Amino acid sequence: MIPYGKQDISDDDMEAVARVLRSDFLTQGPIVPQFEAALAEICGAAYGVAVNSATSALHIAVASLGLGEGDLMWTSPITFVASANCGRYCGADVDFVDIDPETFNMCPQALAAKLERAIASGRLPKVIVPVHMGGQSAAMREIADLCRPHGIRIVEDASHAVGGSYEDSPVGSCQYSDITIFSFHPVKIVTTAEGGMAMTNDAALAGKMSRLRSHGITRDEGEMTHASDGPWYYQQIELGLNYRMTELQAALGLSQLKRLAAFVDRRNALADRYDRLLTDLPLRLPGRQAATRSAFHLYIIRLDDPDQHSTVFENLRARGIGVNLHYIPVHLQPYYRQFGFGPGDFPAAEDYYARAISIPLYAGLTDADQDVVVAALTDILTSEPT
Ligand SMILES: *Cc1c(COP(=O)(O)O)cnc(C)c1O
Repeated sequence: MIPYGKQDISDDDMEAVARVLRSDFLTQGPIVPQFEAALAEICGAAYGVAVNSATSALHIAVASLGLGEGDLMWTSPITFVASANCGRYCGADVDFVDIDPETFNMCPQALAAKLERAIASGRLPKVIVPVHMGGQSAAMREIADLCRPHGIRIVEDASHAVGGSYEDSPVGSCQYSDITIFSFHPVKIVTTAEGGMAMTNDAALAGKMSRLRSHGITRDEGEMTHASDGPWYYQQIELGLNYRMTELQAALGLSQLKRLAAFVDRRNALADRYDRLLTDLPLRLPGRQAATRSAFHLYIIRLDDPDQHSTVFENLRARGIGVNLHYIPVHLQPYYRQFGFGPGDFPAAEDYYARAISIPLYAGLTDADQDVVVAALTDILTSEPT
């Protein structure tokens, strides 16, 4: 089976984790801050707050922006459910902005139209969560231009996009957002097994997210209600969680970061090769937005004929090609339908869902394996139906 995605673990990665196991700290030691500083440096962000998953990063990101009961949060319908769920954890109502059919990212025109209706009805979102689908940044400048005049806070779900860039800035620089979050799940660009990080340039947000990840506790006397009782003292000044990343995870992440650029280069080379090799088939290639370099977490084709969708998908799986579908539109999940969403609400997202297939793409994919994928697709899509 050629999977759609796969981690790449080197001997150096294993040795980095083994060193932590032999050290004094399995958690709350020196490596987590080193990992945070290293990724902040790569992204050109002032702060990174490492946590145990991107789902946790999304939760503390929107919570630190004050999202709560009675508030509204908007995200894209073509994403993993976690992008929407973070709003629900805070008790906010969640709504969606339809996608651009070429980039699969939140469509700025759809956002402008929805904002106009929201202004007319007097209920604007407090937070918006654009998603960098497949690793290509959303149109952040347009999104920020539309949202910032209304005080809408912006969290980039860059789970797919570490190592990518937008208008010559690395994704994670937060030039057009308050916070950017990354995922280090094994199928993503770099891994910590489970893990995530929230990047920001705002010291207050970084402090708030650091407290929320660890019980709402501070050891900073400046944040306490009175002078410290002594060297043992800490205060819980708000309600937080335990979302901490371990030293083992951070050591793996720090070691993986050394190959981040190489991973993204290889993914881009494979994507360019797919573009060339698939060009004559009855499908659409993933759209590329100008001035953006995707990290290419996913390579997503869309079939011209949606009636062939499940047979092509099943046929590829039967030939040992581990294709996948990212994603089922979130508004069609039973959990979200209970809030009144249903088919027809976001037509571009639903049309995408009827055609999309993620084909194998990962740094360790060989040209020969890629040729197997291309040959299978070519055979399936050009042979006469029986
Ligand atoms: C993977 C993913 C997440 C969740 O990441 P975890 O680290 O598994 O919690 C959130 N959003 C998107 C778009 C993702 O792809």
